[in-house]
Amino acid sequence: MADEPKAYEIGHSRIELVQGDIVEQKVDAIVTAANSALAGGGGVDGAVHWAAGPELLDACERIGGCPTGSAVLTPGFDLPSKHVVHAVGPIWEGGDANEEALLASAYRRSLQVAAEHDVRSIAFPAISAGVYGYPMDEAARVALRASEHYLRTNPGSSLRLVRFVLFDARSFVVFARAAEAELGKA
Ligand code: ADP
Repeated sequence: MADEPKAYEIGHSRIELVQGDIVEQKVDAIVTAANSALAGGGGVDGAVHWAAGPELLDACERIGGCPTGSAVLTPGFDLPSKHVVHAVGPIWEGGDANEEALLASAYRRSLQVAAEHDVRSIAFPAISAGVYGYPMDEAARVALRASEHYLRTNPGSSLRLVRFVLFDARSFVVFARAAEAELGKA
């Protein structure tokens, strides 16, 4: 059984947390945790490529790559979402390799590139918190702070909904706890 979704109002926008599968989200854009070669892979990126169909990899190959801490946008092809944002988070190396700034930047660039395409609703996975090894509680804090900061400092952007889709109960609980601490009660 999935935990109850949580929501926080940030100005005219909203940050939501749900437990689920990102490829099933009916939002304007979903974000995948890509590698810098945009070569596809396992984890959430494998699920997104599988659900979008082979044209997604062709689109990624045409772009060619994306530096760590940045993001690029493609169509969603067979997905319910119009767009896929390919965000490249850092590999966790213990915390002293600029990981926090790079992860925050991956979220910020994802939101910026989405807003450039008039995206109103976007869904994120826990970038870097799988194979890339970023501790889930710290990844959650960075993700929530970066999103809140973007919404507060860009109130005129198209973005009205930022949803975090946590794949399992444990990551949902960790994100929910971080959201209470970072975003307060709502
Ligand atoms: P990274 O390489 O950036 O760490 P991963 O794909 O390994 O990316 O994992 C990022 C997070 O996405 C992990 O918490 C993982 O459990 C989660 N995840 C995997 N598949 C999905 C999915 N279909 N929907 C949402 N989250 C997913």
